[in-house]
Amino acid sequence: MGKSIYRILLCLVLGLGLLAGGSAQAAELEGPWHYYEFTGAPFTAAPNFARQNVESWPLFDLERRPLFKQGTDRLLLAVKVNDTEPQKKILLFLTAKQAVRMWLGDEYFFSAGSFQPQRFDEGSQPYMVHLPEFSGQQLLVIELYAHAAKDLGWFSMFSVDTEQVQMSQLFFSDIPLVIAIPVGLAIIFIMFLYYYFNPQGWKRLYAYITLFMTVFVFWCVSASNVKSLFGDWPRFWWYMLSIFAYLLPITSNLVLLELLKGKKYARMKYLLGANVLLFVIAMTGECLGLHSMNGLMPFFYLLLPFGEGFAIYWCIQAAREGDALCKAVLFPTVAFTLLGLFDGIAGHYHLLPWRMYLTPLGAYAFLYFVICILREQVRHEESLLQQTAGLEQEVAVIQRKSETDALTGCYNRNKLKDLLAAAIAKARKKDIPFGMLMLDIDFFKKINDNYGHDTGDAVLRGFATVVRQQLDKDDPCVRWGGEEFLVLVNSADLTEIKVLAEKIRQQVEGMVFAGHRITCSIGITLWQNEKDTAATLFKRADGALYQAKNNGRNCVVVNM
Ligand code: GH3
Ligand code: MG
Ligand code: MG
Repeated sequence: MGKSIYRILLCLVLGLGLLAGGSAQAAELEGPWHYYEFTGAPFTAAPNFARQNVESWPLFDLERRPLFKQGTDRLLLAVKVNDTEPQKKILLFLTAKQAVRMWLGDEYFFSAGSFQPQRFDEGSQPYMVHLPEFSGQQLLVIELYAHAAKDLGWFSMFSVDTEQVQMSQLFFSDIPLVIAIPVGLAIIFIMFLYYYFNPQGWKRLYAYITLFMTVFVFWCVSASNVKSLFGDWPRFWWYMLSIFAYLLPITSNLVLLELLKGKKYARMKYLLGANVLLFVIAMTGECLGLHSMNGLMPFFYLLLPFGEGFAIYWCIQAAREGDALCKAVLFPTVAFTLLGLFDGIAGHYHLLPWRMYLTPLGAYAFLYFVICILREQVRHEESLLQQTAGLEQEVAVIQRKSETDALTGCYNRNKLKDLLAAAIAKARKKDIPFGMLMLDIDFFKKINDNYGHDTGDAVLRGFATVVRQQLDKDDPCVRWGGEEFLVLVNSADLTEIKVLAEKIRQQVEGMVFAGHRITCSIGITLWQNEKDTAATLFKRADGALYQAKNNGRNCVVVNM
């Protein structure tokens, strides 16, 4: 544990130092390298055999590895090591898909993997090994075994130097991964929050992005070199790397599937199907010992540009139709595809001196996409709020219209029911009586008959205005019939109500409406007790009005 922490700190400090001071050059092993290819049983005395014959072996170039004969499954490599600087004793190398053992002089000091045919790949892993104590010059002999000749002899980063330099080399090759993982984790965190706390959000999109980024982070961890120094499980990490590599296009295409949902021209399902099929075949073959996870990689790297090419084309079409999210996703899709292709080609042709992946840098392009999503989400919510506000306004207007009389602006009969029910409920609950006035214009028919309906309307409007001017804000005025109005008065005092009615009558009498004088009759009643209902109130008010008409009109009558 203590050593791990020391190594992590060393990695950080040296990696940053290396970044600041430029790349440190590890000491070269003294060349040349020689090789001997063979098939069959391993040597019992490989160092001895190498020492005796090395000068006659062909030269081996680490960068431009020779082609071995079909069927070759073993290789001996030999190179001289000089004890020039005593502290430069750390051998760093990365093996891929082969078993390795090493001797310095006659001392056997390192082995990894099995020298028998294996069902599963040996995997790929960097190793940092202490060379045994030696002086002068010694021959380093390496024996390799792989189930296929094409896998034999691949080393990266092969060098001897101090521990600090070797650690910083390893760390340097991990920089793209180290800077991408926090971005991936941040995206997962943001999407997780949006998934849980945003009921109006695009939940499925957030779920797919979370899934994709989780696979991405796992892939980054499996791809890093530094992590293998803390756990010597090359096969485990190799299979993690392969499985997550196959899962990357599947999960990223799920995101595209969601974005292109409903667009008829986008055939994302076929593309996803192809990705899944390849993954299933690769997994099945691998379980059968056919080494197909690696063997099908050419198909993987063929499907990547073609499949994503189609996806990009569909996204462009959707972007042209104005889909902002499809437009935003173009950048990460193109970036991931190109970086993935580069990594595939560079890995296959060993273009880089060390094993370094650039695909993780795509996380930054993806972060841009996530920011666009959040911006679109805010816009979407704002437009929803605006729509809601607009609808609420419309509903309010419609409601007001349904409750008011278009000609006079008074409440209509619809509203009267509610007003009366509310007044009665309040009166019953608090035992506070209220008054009801029933008003009717006298001889109104004559105005219509003599001056026309429009004049009648103008008179009605004027009459309603005058009545309402006399009322308190809380006392509603309802147009109950043609030229009949009802007023509910929030008062228990009959005298007060009578005064109000009389005031209205006098105001109407004294005014000119559309060039004509009119009068009105008013019937009054008061809510009396619990037994009173809307019907009994109406009956009494109507009776009072009838009495007022009988009394010669233009007067106020109370009927209790
Ligand atoms: P009184 O109440 O004094 O007995 O006589 P009146 O002439 O007012 O009698 P009545 O209630 O029978 O007549 C009401 C008239 O009001 C009948 C109808 O032509 C008229 N009227 C009803 N609604 C409207 C309206 O919306 N506009 C106009 N211009 N007239 C209306
Ligand atoms: Mg009338
Ligand atoms: Mg009438």
